[in-house]
Amino acid sequence: MTDSPIRKAQPGFRWERVDLARYKQEGSAPFRDITRQVLFHEHDLPCEWRYFEIAPGGYSTLERHRHAHAVMILRGRGRCLVGDQVHAVSAHDLVRVPPLAWHQFRADADSPLGFLCLVDKDRDRPQLPDPQELAALRRTPQVGAFIRTGDESRG
Ligand code: MN
Repeated sequence: MTDSPIRKAQPGFRWERVDLARYKQEGSAPFRDITRQVLFHEHDLPCEWRYFEIAPGGYSTLERHRHAHAVMILRGRGRCLVGDQVHAVSAHDLVRVPPLAWHQFRADADSPLGFLCLVDKDRDRPQLPDPQELAALRRTPQVGAFIRTGDESRG
């Protein structure tokens, strides 16, 4: 059977023949309420295109790595930390995450946050902040109030 070049869009930001996957291995790093779909992972392309969706109140892992991210928000509203600044983002905004910039995405409490993320196919593993790096991040009050590391109570 020939694989169609078209994967039709499905309701709810799904695509034909694209699996809904875990964001990461459970317990490998702090995150909450986020799914991953790999839209393109091709033999002859050095990059990969993923769609992540964070449910209301959820967040991606606070991390950094040598590879960059190019992000387009597709759905909803939220905020993101890039480096030492927190930005409000919504549909069709573009976010560039430079190499080694700390970053974290959070959906607003009343909205999902869905985004495309373009990334190198071969890439270094994300680093999590050690206690000193976390303390340094928290020295910026806006950043300290924003970041989630999984230690927060879920109340
Ligand atoms: Mn990342």
